[in-house]
Order: sequence, then structure tokens, then C-alpha cells
Amino acid sequence: MRARGGYEVSSIPLVDLAAQHAAVADEVASGWQQVLARTAFIGGPQVTAFEGEYAEFVGTRHCIGVANGTDAIEIALRALGVGAGDECIVPANSFVATAEAVCRAGATPVLVDCADDGTYLIDAAAVEAAVTPRTRAIIPVHLYGQAAPAERLMPLAEQIGACVVEDAAQSQGARRHGTGAGALGHAAATSFYPGKNLGAYGDAGAVLTGSDQVAARMRIIRDHGSPRKYEHEVVGVNSRLDTLQAVVLSAKLRRLAGWNAARRAAAERYDILLSGLEDVVLPRTLEGNEHVWHLYVVRVPERDRVLKELQAAGIQAGIHYPVPIHLTAAFAGLGVAEGAFPVAERASRELLSLPLFAEITAGQQERVASALKSALR
Ligand SMILES: *Cc1c(COP(=O)(O)O)cnc(C)c1O
Repeated sequence: MRARGGYEVSSIPLVDLAAQHAAVADEVASGWQQVLARTAFIGGPQVTAFEGEYAEFVGTRHCIGVANGTDAIEIALRALGVGAGDECIVPANSFVATAEAVCRAGATPVLVDCADDGTYLIDAAAVEAAVTPRTRAIIPVHLYGQAAPAERLMPLAEQIGACVVEDAAQSQGARRHGTGAGALGHAAATSFYPGKNLGAYGDAGAVLTGSDQVAARMRIIRDHGSPRKYEHEVVGVNSRLDTLQAVVLSAKLRRLAGWNAARRAAAERYDILLSGLEDVVLPRTLEGNEHVWHLYVVRVPERDRVLKELQAAGIQAGIHYPVPIHLTAAFAGLGVAEGAFPVAERASRELLSLPLFAEITAGQQERVASALKSALR
């Protein structure tokens, strides 16, 4: 883009996948060559290897690769026996997929507000208030890269005979009180969509659990309900992790801790650059959390105008999420009126995600900060 003075200034993307690719390009090329030579594109040793590596990384017993994160949530719920007539408690401030997967499993999403503490994570008190005799699952979303307080939800779930299914799509590598996000509940789902902290080269996802029985059900459901060839125990889905994606994910997983550390350093730099701005509410890390900064989300007044000014300055900020789930057309049928979730609704009007990726430079962050400051003036 061209600056006012007439010289060229490069724009700053929200995420930059090119540098990540450069780091793994050789490893991916040689791994893909092996897959192509054998023409075995589904399953195989690469998928099994990645599943083992990722389970170890999270610190749980089982990881089962699936086709995407939305399928992963559905498969986790179904493996835990959640289905028709059941209710699942879901935060209103999340990507729509969290609620969508509940419907796909045949259950009904019951939305709740998020906490008004700078984390925008599911509000544990609101979860408790939303429990009914039909509640079978609680789905905390580890939003923006930090874990929701699952330890507050587990005793409640156990008391009412429900399960906790973590939506860990935005939290690869995050920890809460030392336990990996994805190992905090009864089961978890994650997404390896390209822009996530651990991203594939297309769609991919995984389910996680510490239970051998639940894992066995997950394996069957993801592959046409089939434990063995020609045997179909339940009506399942076709949701497998492609071999080519497993190669990419294994290569990137080896570098993920380093990339997450770089994201953390960048978040700390934003904290300093943006400190003392009266109008800006900075993101807060919950006590006990190791945050992996999938997104750096600030709250600003006149967000839409600020976003436009940043865009005009060549800065690709984002919004996560512009419409809370209860106000989307897709979920109008739930009958939840505007005003029901004031924290999530305000968040949808005021949150702004600043560019953040492992390779972002101090200079780029300074440009983001000064553009934000002049937009707020
Ligand atoms: C990305 C994401 C999903 C869905 O993952 P897909 O792989 O795109 O299906 C679900 N929940 C959250 C919170 C996400 O960010």
C-alpha cells in the first residue's frame, strides 16, 4: 500500500503463514514424497505417529485425528453418549461451530454469557444457573489461547451426571495449573484449521480423551461406525485425518512450543506498548494459566471506526466475534433475544483482534500500536 508521503509501506497481516511454512518446507516436502510414493492417503503410520505425539504433547492418553474441529466436537459428544433430547451448555461468545456441533450431535445448545473480566471466557456462575435436568454436557471454549476454568465446571458436571467437553480449537499448548488444555475435561476437541496455533494445510482436527472406552467409541464413530472392515456398529461419520495433513502437523508440532513462546513475547510487547491507554481494555490472563495467545484481543470504543482506520493504515485487525451465537440467523430458533447476554453482546461490538503471529517484529507491533493510538485520538 502507499502511504501519504507516496512511499511504499507493507501491510501487516492478522496472521502470516508464510514464515511458518518456510520453517517446515523441507520436512513437509520429503514427508509428502513418501506418502505419494506409497499412494496411501488415508490413515497409515504418519497419522498414528501424529496422534501419539499430540496426545503426549497435551498430556492425555488418546488423540484421534479427525477431519476438522467441528466434527471433533460432534464426535466427542456422541462418544460420550450425548444426543437427542440432551442439552449442552455453550458460551455465546465463541465461533459458531461450538453450537453447530451440538446440533449435529442431535442435542440442543443452551447458550450462556461470558465473564466480564477481560478474558471473555465462559462464565462459570452462568453455567450453574443454566443447568436443567436435561443438561448432559458443558462445553467450555478455551478462547483466544487460554484455558477456561474447567476445574469449576468438573465438580458441577459430576454432581449432575453431565460431562465436560473442552473446545480446545484455539489453545494448542495452553496449560491450566500445569495441565494441558485438552486434558482438563472428560474429552476435548481441537481444530488444526490453517490459522490456528497448530495449523494444517487444509482442514484437520482431533479428539482427545483420557478414557480408553471413550477413545474406542471415538475411533468407531469417525470411521463410519466401523470397528473392523465390513462391520458397522453405529451410524458414524466419515471424518478421518488425511495422511498428508498428519505429515504437516508432526513437522509443525516439533516447533510449536517455540512459536507459542514467541507469541507470548509479542503479547507482552503489546501489553507494554498499549499500557496506560485510557480507552483500551487489554486482555487479561486468568490466574494459573499459561496462555498461548491464539489472538490478542483488546476492547475499544467505536470499534468499527477504529478497525477502518487501522485497515486504512495497512493493518489487518480482525473481529472475534462480530455476532454472538444467539444473535446469528442460524440460531434465531433458540429464541434468545438481544439483551440476554450483555457481556457477550458488548464484546461483539467492542472487541478487536490485533495482528499476532510468532514472527511478528517489534517494528510491526510499534506500527500497530501507534496506528491504534492515532485512531483513538
Ligand atoms: C476453529 C474453531 C472451531 C472449528 O474448527 P474447524 O476446524 O474450522 O471446524 C471450533 N471452535 C472454535 C472455538 C474455533 O476457533
